Amino acid sequence: MRKFFAELTKKQKKMLLRIVVSVLLTLLLTVVLNIIPLNEYVSLILFLIPYLVIGYDVLLKAARNIVGGSIFDEKFLMTIATAGAFFTGDYREACAVMIFYQLGELFENIAVGRTRKSIAAIMDIRPDYANVIRDGEEQRVSPDEVFINDIIVIKPGERVPLDGVVLEGISSLNTAALTGEALPVDIVEGDSVISGAININGVIKVRVTSDYSGSTVSKILELVENASDKKARVEGFVSRFAKYYTPVVVILAVLLALVPPLILHSGWGEWIHRALIFLVVSCPCALVVSVPLTFFCGIGCASREGILVKGSNYLELLSKVTTVVFDKTGTLTKGVFEVEAIHPEESKYDLFELAAIAESKSNHPIALSIVRAYGKKGKEPDKSRLGTVEEIAGKGIKAEIDGEDVFVGNGALMELSGARFHECHKTGTILHVSVSGRYLGHIVINDEIKPESSKAVSELARDNIKTVMLTGDKKDRAEEIGKELGINEVYSDLLPQDKVVKVEELIADPASTIAFVGDGINDAPALMRSDVGIAMGALGSDAAVEASDVVLMNDNPLALPLAVVIARRTMRIVKENIVFALAVKVLILVLGAIGVAGMWVAVFGDVGVLIIAVLNALRAFKVKH
Ligand code: ADP
Ligand code: MG
Repeated sequence: MRKFFAELTKKQKKMLLRIVVSVLLTLLLTVVLNIIPLNEYVSLILFLIPYLVIGYDVLLKAARNIVGGSIFDEKFLMTIATAGAFFTGDYREACAVMIFYQLGELFENIAVGRTRKSIAAIMDIRPDYANVIRDGEEQRVSPDEVFINDIIVIKPGERVPLDGVVLEGISSLNTAALTGEALPVDIVEGDSVISGAININGVIKVRVTSDYSGSTVSKILELVENASDKKARVEGFVSRFAKYYTPVVVILAVLLALVPPLILHSGWGEWIHRALIFLVVSCPCALVVSVPLTFFCGIGCASREGILVKGSNYLELLSKVTTVVFDKTGTLTKGVFEVEAIHPEESKYDLFELAAIAESKSNHPIALSIVRAYGKKGKEPDKSRLGTVEEIAGKGIKAEIDGEDVFVGNGALMELSGARFHECHKTGTILHVSVSGRYLGHIVINDEIKPESSKAVSELARDNIKTVMLTGDKKDRAEEIGKELGINEVYSDLLPQDKVVKVEELIADPASTIAFVGDGINDAPALMRSDVGIAMGALGSDAAVEASDVVLMNDNPLALPLAVVIARRTMRIVKENIVFALAVKVLILVLGAIGVAGMWVAVFGDVGVLIIAVLNALRAFKVKH
């Protein structure tokens, strides 16, 4: 409780004080007037004191808004409702309505403020400074004063301020705030580090590879901060609804105050009183506040798990996903290929060496793995022998080495090269190599399935989501993996453009919502074309972050079913709030019109519903695994 007060802002404390004072004054007046009945005008003036204490700012704002032309503003409605209550002699009710209105506003203000703060705290990845080496000396500067190729020093406990490559030192990094992954990552010389991670133990020297505005941290923060700009369809519905709801209820209130007394020739007081109830209930604030707040909490909850959702609309779509389309390499598999066998057909050439040189400039997972495997033998590909290189997406590499045309890739590439090749009896991904149209043999490589893939696929199946795998790899390997994981449909031998065509075929079914999950390496078109493009393990890959709607920061496929769970839960809470708020309001309107519900019930319909809806919205912030 003490903590609750300590965290209130000055403004919030002042409002709390005003609420307490006016509650006490109202109670005191009620008791006193019960004992000593006073003249009507005297009690009116006395009740005006707590009323003005609590409501003066509402009255002022309402007046200002009328001048500005917005009459259906809630401040104005509260003013009319309470002024009307004074007019019909319900002084106590007038004070109560104003008190509860302010209490609701205060509560909303605190809840929204704290949620925003805690999301900022969860995404507390903003670095404060960088230790840059200038003129041989270490200087502490702001991260945006560091440039590409500057050398920075990061000490234990410090946050990595900019993306870069380790020049010296070994350490482990805690990337939990970025990826939701609790295990530290070990880094050595040559590894890249991403900004926002925390250096745990060693001192490392890092060469900066991007300036602050282009760094991972800036991009993530920008994403999260802009996420609420992209509205979900249901948010659009709520704000459209609010636009009509208030005027309609106000018109009904006017009719209720005028028509029955004219027809029934009864007294005006009772009907005006009922009309005032309408005015109190006419504010759609429970919806207008709680729906965006729920999305905000849902997005915050996802970020804490290393899932960046670029907008409420994508959270909404994610909750409706019927089919998840996986790209195989790097998504379901590790994307790190081990060399299983080398089958040369000509002794004159070193197959492995040529492949390593040809692949040395590519960042395709196969290329990185070949170069890495070659490096394990203590050698480095001699790039000076390499001329022009052409990467043929979905097929392989065409490179000029020692002036000759070398092709490294799959069967389709061999056909392109004109070399007569043959398949291998081993299963795996086969890299054929040819030189100037002569077939040299092949390298058998294999990519391990990620340990979590199978569970991720079965969790999606449990949630009634169909799984599809697309790959440029050969049929037998693709089907083997598909079977092992329990994927519903497998399509192999696809070029990147074929993947887009497949996604388009799937989207064509109006009953389905398609999510495509890829690593962003040559599948950006499919990411963009799908209903929800999900980039996996996208930390550091700008193209993937750019092209996708949802970014899974670590490369654990289990983040996918988790994202769906969070999205569905968020949507459920949104719907609960809409149904609850509308049902209560309609009920109170009906009961108010027939004279069963009084002003107090109306106040509950307004403030009580708001508070309950906001509390419910906050539940979206927590997820059970
Ligand atoms: P995936 O669909 O599994 O992500 P890609 O579309 O990137 O695969 O590539 C499809 C196939 O093309 C690979 O299985 C491989 O045979 C060949 N290939 C693509 N890029 C390369 C490369 N850089 N070197 C060798 N082969 C490649
Ligand atoms: Mg790929």
